[in-house]
Order: sequence, then C-alpha cells, then structure tokens
Amino acid sequence: MTALVDVEALDRWIREFAGQVAAHKELLTQLDAAIGDADHGANMDRGMTAVVAALDGSPPANAALLLKQVGMTLVSTVGGASGPLYGTFFLRMATASGEVTALDGQAFAKALRAGLEGVVSRGKAEAGDKTMYDALAPAVEALEGTLSAAAPLTEAPTEAPTEAPTEALTEALRSATRAAEDGRDATIAMLARKGRASYLGERSVGHQDPGATSAALLVAAAATALAQS
Ligand code: ADP
Ligand code: MG
Repeated sequence: MTALVDVEALDRWIREFAGQVAAHKELLTQLDAAIGDADHGANMDRGMTAVVAALDGSPPANAALLLKQVGMTLVSTVGGASGPLYGTFFLRMATASGEVTALDGQAFAKALRAGLEGVVSRGKAEAGDKTMYDALAPAVEALEGTLSAAAPLTEAPTEAPTEAPTEALTEALRSATRAAEDGRDATIAMLARKGRASYLGERSVGHQDPGATSAALLVAAAATALAQS
C-alpha cells in the first residue's frame, strides 16, 4: 500500500505541534489559570521546545525511534499531569508503529488509537471527565470512521480506487480536527472529574479544559503537516 506518513512527515507533524503550542502558550496558561495552576502553556512549551531540540540533535531513523524520542523527552521535561500523559501517548504510538520508515493511513490511525489507550491506562479518564481525552477520543474515532468509509471493500485488482489514499487521509485528518475541536468546545459545559480542575467541583463548569485545547492543536497539526496537496 502507498506509504503516506513517512519519518519526515512525522517530524513535520511534531514540529508543527511545537509551533502551535508556542503560538498558543498564553491561551493554554490562561485556561489553566481558571481551573488549574496556570502552568499548562509553560509545561507544553518547555516540553515541545526540548522535543524539537532532541529531533535536531539526532534525527531518528524510523517511526518508532522518532515517537519514542518525543515521548521520552516529554516525560523527562514536563512536570504535572500532562507530561506523563502526553509522554505515554507518544510512547504507545511508538510501540504500535514499529521500526518502519513509513505508515499508511490505517497504521497511523492504529498508532493514534494505541496512544489514546495509553492516556486512558495512565490517567483513567472517561468521556465527559473534562480532560484531553474529550478532544482526542472523538478525533481518533472520526479518523478511523472516515478512513474505513473511504477504503475499498475489496482490493481492486486492476482499476484505480475511486479515491486516492492520500486524499482519504487528508480528508480523514480534516474530520478528525473538526471532531477534536468540537470535543474541546464541549469541555466548557463539563464538570471536571480528573486532574486539578476536579478540586473545583461545580466551579469548573463554564471553562474550557486546557489539556483538551492542546490536544485539539495536536490533531490540527497533523492535518496541516500531513495534508497532501
Ligand atoms: P497539572 O494539572 O499537573 O498542572 P497541566 O496543567 O500541564 O498539569 O495539564 C492539565 C491538563 O491535563 C488538564 O487540562 C487535563 O486535560 C489533563 N489531565 C489531567 N488529569 C488527567 C487525567 N487523569 N487523564 C487525562 N487527562 C488529564
Ligand atoms: Mg496545570
């Protein structure tokens, strides 16, 4: 099958996310000031700056090494809840991807699903708890749904598929981004049941979750960096 997400594309995705985090650092901190301890922007920016430095220092040779590098760097540089959670996300993605130089759309979706499962096994968040899960889970679902709808039911032996695989991934990442952003917005009405925000109880209602906001940036960064023109 056509290779769609190679090591260079993964590298672009991570750098795009780092750029988005830097651009939204103040927003992430303001959101965390309302229902947490005002460090989510600083936490994520410190982590992603270190990630970019690590990628510059020793460019990884395959998907597993790259994603492992990202995860390990986040775990070691980001304190608080988000470091281990994002770290686990990328470490699980690394294991699911394997030592390959490129992933097709389905394999990329599978790796994201494994990353999401890592977040759940680490943080025990469920839908509606007002966390990064509420942006990530709908995004992975939308990605899988759009890709499987675009996939031919059987291998077409001679004729070209009606939709090129690259276009299918681009479209799937667009719908994943919309789902992540809707999920992020839905956290405003939720009552926090995990993390620091849960200490506020009812007072957490009416505020957008910072982790769901950074998670939506992660998905949007994939749509930007992996889109094939
Ligand atoms: P801390 O809360 O330790 O200061 P951050 O401010 O960097 O860490 O990250 C806060 C975000 O982490 C929250 O907005 C939420 O999305 C996410 N989070 C916290 N606890 C959990 C959890 N158990 N599962 C999933 N996400 C969580
Ligand atoms: Mg915080």
